[in-house]
Amino acid sequence: MVKYDTVLIRFGELSTKGKNRKDFISRLYQNIRDMLKDYPELTYRKTHDRIYIKLTDEDPEEIREKLQKVFGISSFSFTEKVDSDLEVIRERCLQIARESDKKTFKIISRRHDKSFPVKSDGINRAVAGEILKNTDLKVDVHDPELAIRLEVHSDGTYITSDKIKGAGGYPAGINGKVLLLLSGGIDSPVAAYQLMKRGLKVEAVHFASPPYTSENAKQKVLDLASMVSVYQTKMTVHLVNFTDIQLAIYKAAGDPYAVTLMRRMMFRLAERIAQERGCLAIATGESIGQVASQTLESIACINDAIRIPVIRPLVCFDKLEIIDQAVKIGTYETSILPFEDCCTIFDPKNPVTKPSVEKSEFYEAKFNYAEMLDEAVRNKETVWVTPKKDEEDFL
Ligand code: ATP
Ligand code: MG
Repeated sequence: MVKYDTVLIRFGELSTKGKNRKDFISRLYQNIRDMLKDYPELTYRKTHDRIYIKLTDEDPEEIREKLQKVFGISSFSFTEKVDSDLEVIRERCLQIARESDKKTFKIISRRHDKSFPVKSDGINRAVAGEILKNTDLKVDVHDPELAIRLEVHSDGTYITSDKIKGAGGYPAGINGKVLLLLSGGIDSPVAAYQLMKRGLKVEAVHFASPPYTSENAKQKVLDLASMVSVYQTKMTVHLVNFTDIQLAIYKAAGDPYAVTLMRRMMFRLAERIAQERGCLAIATGESIGQVASQTLESIACINDAIRIPVIRPLVCFDKLEIIDQAVKIGTYETSILPFEDCCTIFDPKNPVTKPSVEKSEFYEAKFNYAEMLDEAVRNKETVWVTPKKDEEDFL
């Protein structure tokens, strides 16, 4: 049996040059090590265009699953490292061909070490010739069932017959930090995933209105945070008590403007916390037209309350596309658990779909919200969540 002993990792989105490239690789390297911290026997090596992990007795399936969650990896392969010697290379490739049950093949070689005496074309021909002579496999250069890749380096040659797609994007955290408004719904956890994929570190803020919202609703949000935290290994979550502000809004404005005002207050709170935490933007799971508060008019009116940029990764996604993503990242089942969050409880019957800033400010002038916001920020509870190992621990 061919024994794969080294994982070879290829990078994504590396159009960047110079220092950016260095930062990209260092961050990716660290993120990979963090992701695999439960495997102390692994040894790592990075070069300007690859990262290598030397395996001992780890379960390759577990390593594969973890690596597929690291943003910035474009693809990776389980390889066997052999001496950079054409005879050895030929023999190992023949063994891979013999052990496979495929009918067609292709050899794809890359000569990184230019001092190796045979060019990649020559290597392809020598190896393919050996396989044609000794097996029934036929060459198919366009759509081979078995693609044997080999990379010749000065310290050895890496041979593989697989190429596993990575998560793509940028290494988590390389592009700065944002504060995401995380509800217990379907959308915002998907937004977290999208932001992290762009290399942003995500902190979350959740607004709860106890006793109108339950302990279960809060736990659900923490579970969702834990699920998406896997992509950045941990996540900070700020829990803000929104009850008093929400009650004051209803008293001052009544039904139609309640949602608009609530969201303006949420944005103001988020802006304050973002500033406190060094986040340069806030983010939401909003998508145009989905509900009354997400018409373009509503978005404009709500946005007017703050100055900090708002990132809306899902703004043009269909609900079905968002659900698809939620299923893929494993948050959907938890998101649809029926625990009330603060918006569903105070669900107004006739929310305005075209709110105005003037009217919003008119209602807001009726109570001293600035002080209430300060107090809510001061009393926030901050927790750190990490991925759970056992699915059973979730609600
Ligand atoms: P989601 O499925 O993410 O809850 P939604 O379709 O239910 O979204 P809304 O309830 O209008 O839409 O919320 C829009 C966005 O506002 C959410 O994606 C989230 O970013 C933010 N948000 C809503 N409620 C809360 C909350 N209680 N705490 C924090 N953020 C919230
Ligand atoms: Mg919601």
